[in-house]
Amino acid sequence: MTIADAFIRIEHLSKTFGAPGAGGMLALDDINCAIAEGSFVSVVGPSGCGKSTLLRLMAGLLDASHGTVTMDGQPIRGTRRDVGVVFQSSILLPWRSVLENVMLPAEVLGLDMKAARQRALQLLHMVRLDGFEHKLPRQLSGGMQQRASIARALLHDPRILLMDEPFGALDAMTREQMNLELQRIWRESGKTVILITHSISEAIFLGDVVFVMTPRPGSLERVIPVDLPRPRGMDTMATPGFAAISHEIRELFNHAGSFD
Ligand code: ADP
Ligand code: MG
Repeated sequence: MTIADAFIRIEHLSKTFGAPGAGGMLALDDINCAIAEGSFVSVVGPSGCGKSTLLRLMAGLLDASHGTVTMDGQPIRGTRRDVGVVFQSSILLPWRSVLENVMLPAEVLGLDMKAARQRALQLLHMVRLDGFEHKLPRQLSGGMQQRASIARALLHDPRILLMDEPFGALDAMTREQMNLELQRIWRESGKTVILITHSISEAIFLGDVVFVMTPRPGSLERVIPVDLPRPRGMDTMATPGFAAISHEIRELFNHAGSFD
């Protein structure tokens, strides 16, 4: 794959917050990369290096100062149609049932509600929340709430799923389980996934490729392919191949003098 025919292309992407020039703060500096359709990309980097900014630019939630993000050669459209986003906190509406929460994008986008309900039920089945459709978010565990958020992000059938540290608030055991679940959901849905994470092992476990960013202003330090067989299990983490990639990423962070 060359950058010219890639599914998603990021070219010369920069973001300055505040006034350009002396008063502004350069958060992202000339990011260039290509992402293949259906692939799983993990992004790691020190705190404040611009990971969330990159994600918001890719979601169309923020305008670039320079450069472009395109999908099939077209700028990514708004927040709504092309991408689904999952944030660290599940931001489910507390007074609505799980099913009603998952159907929210259909109301916002004015989709056919009957079809949306069918799709919501299918997605809740895919994220293994059968039987919880009519519960309120607070009746679910943290991991279940994030699974509901994933279902909601997929309701309008976006081509890209963007995730910003979605499992950061979960305990270690639940997080491992969610990593297995996300691998399965990704394989079943065929979506292109971009996952921002603080966890190097999570990044490697899930990624076809790991993007390692530099400290602020964030740029792409290295793109590391993860050639480990799939489906991966927890024992994958004990393999020499996994350890070698983990070591390579840690070295980059140590060099940069910042560990997240
Ligand atoms: P990360 O997600 O990697 O921790 P962010 O993308 O959140 O980093 O932030 C990168 C830098 O940009 C930080 O210094 C942050 O304070 C700054 N920043 C992020 N959003 C804004 C904003 N809306 N206005 C001003 N500065 C911002
Ligand atoms: Mg962030």
